Amino acid sequence: MASSAATNVVWHQHQVSKLDRVQQKGIQRPAVLWFTGLSGSGKSTIANAVEQLLFSQGYHSYLLDGDNVRHGLNQDLGFNDQDRIENIRRIGEVSKLFVDAGLIVLTAFISPFREDRQLVRALHSASEFIEVFIDTPLAVCERRDPKGLYKKARAGEIKHFTGIDSAYEAPEKAEIHVDTASQSVVECAEQIVTYLKQHGYL
Ligand code: ADP
Repeated sequence: MASSAATNVVWHQHQVSKLDRVQQKGIQRPAVLWFTGLSGSGKSTIANAVEQLLFSQGYHSYLLDGDNVRHGLNQDLGFNDQDRIENIRRIGEVSKLFVDAGLIVLTAFISPFREDRQLVRALHSASEFIEVFIDTPLAVCERRDPKGLYKKARAGEIKHFTGIDSAYEAPEKAEIHVDTASQSVVECAEQIVTYLKQHGYL
C-alpha cells in the first residue's frame, strides 16, 4: 500500500466485500474506463454518450469529469506538472473507491503523462483498468476549440497548455483506441460499449 503522511493508520477489512456488492448487482463487472486525450479531443462528450447508453440499458456507472472535479475535490490544484500529477493521483484513488463500490467508472481527464496513467493503472487490478485513448489530432482539437482555450493558449493567456507548451504523451497500448476524426460521437460511444460487452464487463 502507498505510504501515508499519517502514522498508525491501519486498513480495515470490511464484512461486505467488493465481490458481495458485484454479486448483489449481478449485472456488471466493475471497472474504470480511463479516457485520455487532448483538450477538445472529445473525452467528456464521448464519456457522456457512453454513460447514457449504459444508463438506458440498466447499468450503474459514475462519470468523473475534469472540470467538475477541479471545482471541488481538486480545487486547490493548478496546471503545473506537480499539480497535474496530484490531480491524476487523486482521481485514480477516487476511481478505485467507485470500482470497489461496484460501478463502471468513467473518467475524463487529459492525463497527459504516461507515467501518471501507469501509476493509476497500477492502483487497479489488471482487468479493472481500461485505458481509452481518444485520439484526435491537435489540429482538429484546435479547430473545434469548444471552450476557446486553444485560442487563449496561442495568445499566451494560458500557460502549460497541453499540446501547446506542455507535453501530451499518447498511450502506446491503450485497451481501446477511438478515432474521432472518422466516427461520430454515437459510433465512438458504441465502440466502447461493444468492447465492454465483448470482454464480459456487461
Ligand atoms: P474534452 O473533454 O476532451 O476536452 P469535449 O468533449 O469537451 O473534449 O469537446 C469535444 C468537442 O468536439 C465537442 O464540442 C464535440 O461536440 C466535438 N466533436 C465533434 N466530433 C466529435 C466526435 N466524433 N467525438 C467527440 N467529440 C466530437
